[in-house]
Amino acid sequence: MRALVKETAAPGFKLKEVPEPTIRDDEVLIRVRRAGVCGTDVHIYDWDAWAQGRCKPPFVVGHEFAGEVAQVGRLVTDVHIGDRVTAEGHIVDGRCLLCRTGNSHVCPHTRIIGVDRDGCFADYIAMPATNVWHLDDNISFDIGGIHDPMGNAFHTALTAEIPGATVLITGCGPIGLFAVGICKAAGASRIIASDVNETRLALARRMGAHDVVHPNEAAAAVSRATDGLGVDVVLEMSGVPSAIHQAFELVRVGGRVQMLGIPSKPIEVNLASEVIFKGITIYGVVGRRMYDTWHQVTRFLRSGMFDPTPVITHRFPLEAADEAINAIKTGAAGKVIFEIA
Ligand code: NAD
Ligand code: ZN
Repeated sequence: MRALVKETAAPGFKLKEVPEPTIRDDEVLIRVRRAGVCGTDVHIYDWDAWAQGRCKPPFVVGHEFAGEVAQVGRLVTDVHIGDRVTAEGHIVDGRCLLCRTGNSHVCPHTRIIGVDRDGCFADYIAMPATNVWHLDDNISFDIGGIHDPMGNAFHTALTAEIPGATVLITGCGPIGLFAVGICKAAGASRIIASDVNETRLALARRMGAHDVVHPNEAAAAVSRATDGLGVDVVLEMSGVPSAIHQAFELVRVGGRVQMLGIPSKPIEVNLASEVIFKGITIYGVVGRRMYDTWHQVTRFLRSGMFDPTPVITHRFPLEAADEAINAIKTGAAGKVIFEIA
C-alpha cells in the first residue's frame, strides 16, 4: 500500500510502498478515505526539537482520519466489515488510575498513532477496536476525518459553562474556528474571536463569531461587549505567549480560562496578579475526553446546530504532501485534508 513515511531523522516525508498492516485479534483494519493534516504533522515534517525528542523513525505519519472497515480481528464483536468509522488516535492502557477513573485522556501510557506508532496517511491503518468511533450515515468522510481536532474544540469549549456566556477565543486556527461554531451552537451570548490572520478572521465570522478582531483590538471589543467586566470564558487556542497573557487580562474576575494552545517554550506568568487575585479557574486541555467528547461531537453534528464544513479549505492527494504542509505553514488555509480514496 501507499504511505507517507517519516523515514529518517531529517526534515520531510516520503511517499512509498509499504506492506499493509497486520491486525491483532482485538484490532480492525481500516481503509482510509480522508485524513486531516495538523500542526503536529508539520512539527514531524520539519523535524523540530519536539519531534526529535518524541518520534522514532521510520513510521507512517498522520493521526486524524475516517474510512471503511476492511477486516476485523477474531475478538472484535461490535465493529464489522464495511462500517464507516473514524477513531480516537490516543491509544491508552485502560488499566491505570486515570483510565479507571474516567480520565483516559490523560493516561500516562498514551501512545498516539502517527507519532508513537504507524498512522493514517496511508491506504490502510490498524486500530484497536476500542478506539473505533462509528459515523452516522449522513456524515461525510470529510467531516469524519476531522473528528479529532473538532473533538479538541468540543473538549475545550464544553468543559466550561457556555450557555449565555461571553466568550473570547484567542487563535482562529482550525480548532479555534470549530470552537466558534460550537460556542454558537451551545448558546454563548457573545463570541469574540481574535487572530492576526485576516483569512482566518473571515472564517471565524462565517462560523458565527459576533466580533472578529486583531489582538490589538481585543481589549476594546471585550470591554464593549461586557460593560468593562471581561469575558466569562476564554478559550486560548493559539499557544502564543502574548495571547495567553491577554487571556488572563481579558477574562473577568472569577472567570475561566481553557488552555489548549501549546507554547513552544516555557513562559513567565505573574500568578499573583494574572491568576490568584482574579480568582480565575484554569483548565488544561489534553486531546478529547474518552468518550464523552465523542458523544458530544456526534450529537452536535446530528442536531444540525453545528456545521464544520466551511473550515475545510484545502484538499490534496497524498502525492502532494509538501504542498499540504506548505498550505498550513503559510497560514492561507483553514483545515487541510488528504483525499486518499
Ligand atoms: P494553529 O496553531 O494554526 O492556530 C493558532 C492560531 O493562532 C493561528 O491562526 C495564528 O494566526 C493565531 N495567532 C497567532 N498569534 C496570535 C495572537 N497574538 N492572538 C490570537 N491569535 C494568534 O492551529 P490549530 O491546529 O488550531 O492549533 C491551535 C493550538 O492548539 C496550537 O498551539 C496547537 O499546538 C494546540 N493543540 C493542542 C492540543 C491539546 O490537546 N492541548 C491538541 C491539538 C492542538
Ligand atoms: Zn491509562
